[in-house]
Amino acid sequence: MNMFYHVLECRVQQMDLIVRHAHLRNQQGIWDIGITGDRISVIAEKLTDIATEDIDAAGNLVVPTYINGHIHLDKCNLRDKMRPNKTYSWDECLALTWEHKAQYTVEDILDRAGRAVEEGVLNGTTIFRAFADVDTIGQLRPIEGLLALRERWRDVAHIEVVAFPQEGLIRNPGANDLMEEAMRMGADVVGGLPWFEMLDEDVRKHIDWCFELAKKFNKDIHMLLDETVNPLSRSLEYLAVKTMREGYQGRVSASHCVALSTYDEAHARKVMELVKEADISIGSNTHVNLVMQGVFDQEPVRRGITRVKQMWQMGINLFTSQDDYNDPFYPFGRNDQQEVAAYLCHAAHMTGANEIEAAFDFITYNAARALRLESYGLDPGCHANLNVLAAPTVREVLRLQQPPGWVIRQGKMLVHNQLQREFVNH
Ligand SMILES: [Zn+2]
Repeated sequence: MNMFYHVLECRVQQMDLIVRHAHLRNQQGIWDIGITGDRISVIAEKLTDIATEDIDAAGNLVVPTYINGHIHLDKCNLRDKMRPNKTYSWDECLALTWEHKAQYTVEDILDRAGRAVEEGVLNGTTIFRAFADVDTIGQLRPIEGLLALRERWRDVAHIEVVAFPQEGLIRNPGANDLMEEAMRMGADVVGGLPWFEMLDEDVRKHIDWCFELAKKFNKDIHMLLDETVNPLSRSLEYLAVKTMREGYQGRVSASHCVALSTYDEAHARKVMELVKEADISIGSNTHVNLVMQGVFDQEPVRRGITRVKQMWQMGINLFTSQDDYNDPFYPFGRNDQQEVAAYLCHAAHMTGANEIEAAFDFITYNAARALRLESYGLDPGCHANLNVLAAPTVREVLRLQQPPGWVIRQGKMLVHNQLQREFVNH
């Protein structure tokens, strides 16, 4: 009997995977990470246990999976078939989307978005918050497409679907009903685009209505705000106050917030204090803002980056993400969060040692907080969703931007990247 229990105990303690010789952020020395099932079970300086499988990190950094908290997977890869974008003005980007949106099919979205997810996972991102347009042009087709995508890729990635009123609510009559239907169909998050409405009073109605919808379905909110260098675009302050009045602190994210960079210092500080009090997470996608903002300016051309560094210094939760990907709004993108963080370091003047570390938090821990993910991180008990990177420090990772050597998802090896480069005839 005792013998039986002993054998059973040994089997229970057998680990499924050990990542050996890992460098960890903010830790001296080299560490082993033991994984049992889909969780991290132990982290120690030297594990003598055996495991079914081993990975040698060779002194490189191991971090939790990257998180892409804002990406338009319904319109990604449209660039492959659309006519050229001449101006990158908001109006032309929208018009180019209209030319395709009415003809979307679920299969077409699954194909274009699937290729983007695949590339993202190869680059170490296994968590995505995907925006689906909900409006009278595409109707519910983008939502159908991304809900199907969520199911098809469930074993490989965690995909959240945001119902996003890309054409506005008040200026697109009928969008409200479609938004409500999108939530009934299973969308995870209520989106919003209030700054795009025509009047200030409509901006507020838009925000009010989104809160009603979110409360009805008990869902979080993620709005795209003030994506313009127009200093009169002021939806962020109202969103912050509304968040507090509705008791939604910690459940709201706001991406872009470009106009904040144009307010005078006194007003900007007031707005940022409200954002902090409301515990709103701010998403900045600097590479897209650099392309799309100030396109009609003569020198000096406004750069259109929100106050990333100031807000970070104030303790506001910042994150960064791909946003647009090979689509009418942005001609590039590899769905690589390392690239996205590196762009932010340049555009937001965050190149000091602790600032580069902070930018890396923007694609990991801060994004996890924005999405309110549970058991994310590198502690025993956390989900074993890890990247074994190709360099030993955060700065080297962002400088070299090589894909992770290994991507581990739910305790299993999912991706192995091998970079082979060599001189010939030298
Ligand atoms: Zn966006």
